[in-house]
This record gives sequence, C-alpha cells and structure tokens, in this order.
Amino acid sequence: MRIKTVDVEWLGHASFLIKGKENVYIDPFVLRSGAPKADVILVTHDHYDHCDAQKIESLRKEGTVIISTPSVARKIRGVETIALGETKTAAGVRVKAVPAYNPSKKFHPKNTGFGFVFEVDGTKFYHAGDTDFIPEMSALEKERIDVALLPIGGTYTMDAREAAAAAALIKPRYVIPMHYGTIPNTEADATEFKKLVDAKDLSIEVRLLG
Ligand code: MN
Repeated sequence: MRIKTVDVEWLGHASFLIKGKENVYIDPFVLRSGAPKADVILVTHDHYDHCDAQKIESLRKEGTVIISTPSVARKIRGVETIALGETKTAAGVRVKAVPAYNPSKKFHPKNTGFGFVFEVDGTKFYHAGDTDFIPEMSALEKERIDVALLPIGGTYTMDAREAAAAAALIKPRYVIPMHYGTIPNTEADATEFKKLVDAKDLSIEVRLLG
C-alpha cells in the first residue's frame, strides 16, 4: 500500500519493507528475491523468525544502520543498540523503542525485545514486535500512529481478538495484521481480524496485504 510518498510492503510474517526516501526493513526473515538494499534495519528481538543473520547480511550495504537489542548485537556485527524508551535517528529515520512482551507466557520476557515507533518521510509507524496486548499500549494513542503493524497469530503474540482491542486503544489510521500463517502455532484469519476492527466503528482502516 502507498501512503503519501511511502510504500509499505508486507513481505510475510513480521517482515516489512517501508520505502520512502530511505529503505527501512523490519525483522527481515521473509524476503523476496532482488530485494533492494537497506538504509535502516530494525530488529525487534533475537528469535530466528525476526533476527536472521543471513537475510540481514544480504540487505547490508555501505552505511546500513541496524538498530536492535543488546542480545541481537551479540549475534550480528555492527548493530547499534537502543534501550527501552530511547529515541534514535538513523539515516533520517526517527526510531523509538517501546515495550513488547508476554505478561504470563515464557516466550518473550519483559525488556528482551521491543516494538518500534518510527517515522519515514513524515508517516508514523508502529511495529509491535512479538507482544501480547499490554497496558503500555495505551501510551501509543498520543503518538498519533498512521500505520500500526500488529501480530494476530496468537500463541507467541496477540490473537486476532486481542489485536483488534489493541488497535481500538492505539487508534491508528491504518492497521496491517502480521505474524500469522508462516510458522507453526500462529494460524489466524485476517478477515476475522478485519471484521472485529470494523465492528468497533473507529475509522481505523484495516489493510490486508500480501
Ligand atoms: Mn515471532
């Protein structure tokens, strides 16, 4: 989908390419062949389906900035670490690390992974990372998010119903479901997610990409 000057491509799973003046990738685990090189790569946490060393290497060029957690920095060379709540500017892209975790499951303990709020050519994105519906999401409404990228696959993250509740709290202009149907235990119906969000009647537009 295109918003003003920015192209948003869902590559599959939690992988996105945001093409503005710069090419920004998030969690490049699924890539198409001939993918353009990255100016910025954001990696939410160190799990294999988000932090893929080979894919990251294939996108790297001179000057690529990779922003992630300390644990990812131990696995991948040249990663600039970011702390929870911190904001950094990389290649003209402003990035803030926000909470992403499972309150009562073992998969994603607090502060081992992040979500990212980031701005590309004036369009503001929220990539939730692997997270449940957590109270800290209520702080995101004031960020005035244009596009929220939310997991709906369940098990490791929110399911469709929880993600619809999160969308209602965050109130982005657009929401794109992700993190379903690629790895085991993340089966979800994106059309069901769309129905749940539409039923809330909040002028949030659900876009099903891919
Ligand atoms: Mn995952």
